[in-house]
Amino acid sequence: MSNRPAPSTARRRCLGGACALAGGLLAGCAAPAITGPAIDTRYHAVGQDSRVQFLILHFTGESLADSLTILTRQNVSAHYLVSDETPPVIYRLVDETQRAWHAGDSAWQGQTMLNASSIGIEIVNPGPVTLADGSRGFAPFPPAQIAALIPLIRDIAARHHIAPERILGHSDIAPQRKVDPGPAFPWQRLADAGLIRWPAAAQVALLQAHYQTALPEPAWFQQALARIGYAVPDHGALDPATRRVIAAFQMKYRPALHDGTPDAETAALLQVLGQPQPAASPP
Ligand SMILES: [Zn+2]
Repeated sequence: MSNRPAPSTARRRCLGGACALAGGLLAGCAAPAITGPAIDTRYHAVGQDSRVQFLILHFTGESLADSLTILTRQNVSAHYLVSDETPPVIYRLVDETQRAWHAGDSAWQGQTMLNASSIGIEIVNPGPVTLADGSRGFAPFPPAQIAALIPLIRDIAARHHIAPERILGHSDIAPQRKVDPGPAFPWQRLADAGLIRWPAAAQVALLQAHYQTALPEPAWFQQALARIGYAVPDHGALDPATRRVIAAFQMKYRPALHDGTPDAETAALLQVLGQPQPAASPP
């Protein structure tokens, strides 16, 4: 499109050890080899945004040493790894311009295979463990680790303009396969920091009372989950696949009970979160 003359160095090509100017004259190889065409960058389109549309959180389910080994030497990776050291260390394992292999088969709001459009953060945490009372549960995330994670999320979300409803867990985008970051992950801390939406307790209580008298059908739950962004069956039956999606939602917003059974509180939480958001205030 442009007739702007190319810089003289861009017209020089190295060909098989000899050099040729664009005009065909042979010359010495003093100038560095330039492999691409000259590009004129004077004009900028307004129609563009970041390739990064989602931010996905994981727990590693491994120690720090094993997490580093797996995430740097195997065919799985993440852009960032937040350690459980004191103080926590944030490792960058993949440049943000590159695709990390953390999401796998995944979907949100109709978009699929989210490795290509997301930043992945792995958090060192053992995941499912035997708790002090002998029961099975999930290991807590140390407050210092979450305190380190929050500014990292804030920075990434600000630079790539990632909307709050696109800051997600692996379990949100792959509920049939994954449970991380799990029910012990303090999503409400992220909401308190202004990073994600959180259902207002008063609204939830009102709606919960309503739904206790008339629990919606499974099809209602499927539609409500789909409206928020989950990939969920739409056949109206409460099958295991639907239960896994309900459980993923419960782990995030009602972690005390995440058995995948539809109930009044889950319906209330879904309705509040599915309501249109208020218009963004002007800058
Ligand atoms: Zn994961």
